[in-house]
Amino acid sequence: MGNELIQISAATVQGSPPATDPALEKATAPASVAGAGKTFYIETFGCQMNVHDSEKVAGVLMARGYRAVESHDDADLILYNTCSIREKAAQKVFSRLGAFKKQQERAGRGPGGNPKIVGVLGCVAQQEGGRIFERAPQVGLVCGSASYSKLPDLLDQLEAGNRRVAGLSLEIDECFETEMTRRDNPFRAYLTIIEGCDKECAYCVVPMTRGPERSRPADRVLADCRRLASEGYTEIQLLGQNVNSYRDPGPAHMSFAGLLAGVAEVKGVRRVRFTTSHPRDFTPEIVRAIESHPALCDQVHLPVQSGSTRVLAHMQRGYTREQYMAKIDCLRGSRRPISLSTDIIVGFCDETEADFEQTLSLLEEVEYDQVFSFKYSPRPNTSAAGRVDSVPEEEKGRRLAILQERQREIQLRRNQACIGREFEVLVENYQPRLGQAVGRTTSNRVINFAGQPAWVGQYMNVRVTEAGPNSLVGINTGM
Ligand code: SAM
Ligand code: SF4
Repeated sequence: MGNELIQISAATVQGSPPATDPALEKATAPASVAGAGKTFYIETFGCQMNVHDSEKVAGVLMARGYRAVESHDDADLILYNTCSIREKAAQKVFSRLGAFKKQQERAGRGPGGNPKIVGVLGCVAQQEGGRIFERAPQVGLVCGSASYSKLPDLLDQLEAGNRRVAGLSLEIDECFETEMTRRDNPFRAYLTIIEGCDKECAYCVVPMTRGPERSRPADRVLADCRRLASEGYTEIQLLGQNVNSYRDPGPAHMSFAGLLAGVAEVKGVRRVRFTTSHPRDFTPEIVRAIESHPALCDQVHLPVQSGSTRVLAHMQRGYTREQYMAKIDCLRGSRRPISLSTDIIVGFCDETEADFEQTLSLLEEVEYDQVFSFKYSPRPNTSAAGRVDSVPEEEKGRRLAILQERQREIQLRRNQACIGREFEVLVENYQPRLGQAVGRTTSNRVINFAGQPAWVGQYMNVRVTEAGPNSLVGINTGM
């Protein structure tokens, strides 16, 4: 959601499953498989889609006998799963590769004595392609996100001793299916339902890096959900660049709202989230599904990008401010209150002060519970790349700071209105230093409250006693 510029090491994500996790048991491959005895390390940049792609890549490797390790130093194979949504994110991988090259000059061999292999995966891989080999000669594998289904073949080639292998085709009509996925969160399972994007937003690289839209059959998604529930996952997060553009290729031709209802009805599933929804494809049926299925979380992330119809047209978003607000009215009219979040870009091409004021007025009108906001970053091969990036960097920074301060006030106001209310939370974490449990409500609010480590993974009721702009404080009132 929001594609925060966070960087997550899949090998160190909190809450790695215990050794008895059924997923890991399945991954324990016989000694005869190709990667037996080899080790790997993955570092992930970018959005939840990337985090989940890394979980699937880790599953592919573990099924071949590779073992995950927690540092570059102990790995035979080092993978960077990259993000190129903004320039800064794309640059990160090259600074990592530069640092690694120096380190490799000192100790370039893996634990088995073989030279270490470095792979670049994801959006930068797709965007830069073979140029990565020239820029970073230590790289042996380049694979774009649309080509992950080719990963086993590419690994075969590497294991056979090929020095440089690449998977960069965008002519892909299949999804990345794995027999095994290493899941890094013991309670929440990510599940891709749709990959790629067919929209053409003027600023965005995703259609070029992730390829065309392709949905997974609903019966396969539902079978995955039943299996995840039987393995003990109680929360499922359905993922897609535009999750609600889902089109079931299976015989049932299930709608997205129908699929949501189906997942919510799986026995053992207590919470279902889905992200990201595109405003153009957002229908009243989705709101009806949330109203009638308590397991569907009362939270929708609906990126608006700008409050100005003029800027929205330049962005090629396919809706006006009024059309977006009609979707918001539908959500706000729900019998079950629904928490809203969004993404906003400031300083897109010729955004004027008046356009920006309209974005601020939209914030006040909608009153989101969370906003992910970004300065416009021109990206290669997008249709906006040919336009003048006319808003100076300093002005983008000023607009971003104003917007974030305005939103901070809105969030504080909305969170203060929660004081005295009781929520069910899933305890996701425990902070020993503070003696506090960290829980999340279905509406995606974080509540800290005095607790015990053993509560992690449990559902509890908490009454809110204090509120800040980003989180709440409460007391436990029972299970
Ligand atoms: N598909 C989703 C949608 O259309 O709303 C968004 C997915 S995109 C990967 C995540 C967010 O990154 C976008 O909503 C947008 O706010 C931001 N983003 C994308 N391209 C950007 C760019 N060139 N500069 C700044 N932010 C960008
Ligand atoms: Fe990018 Fe637009 Fe597709 Fe979202 S809908 S991934 S912003 S092109």
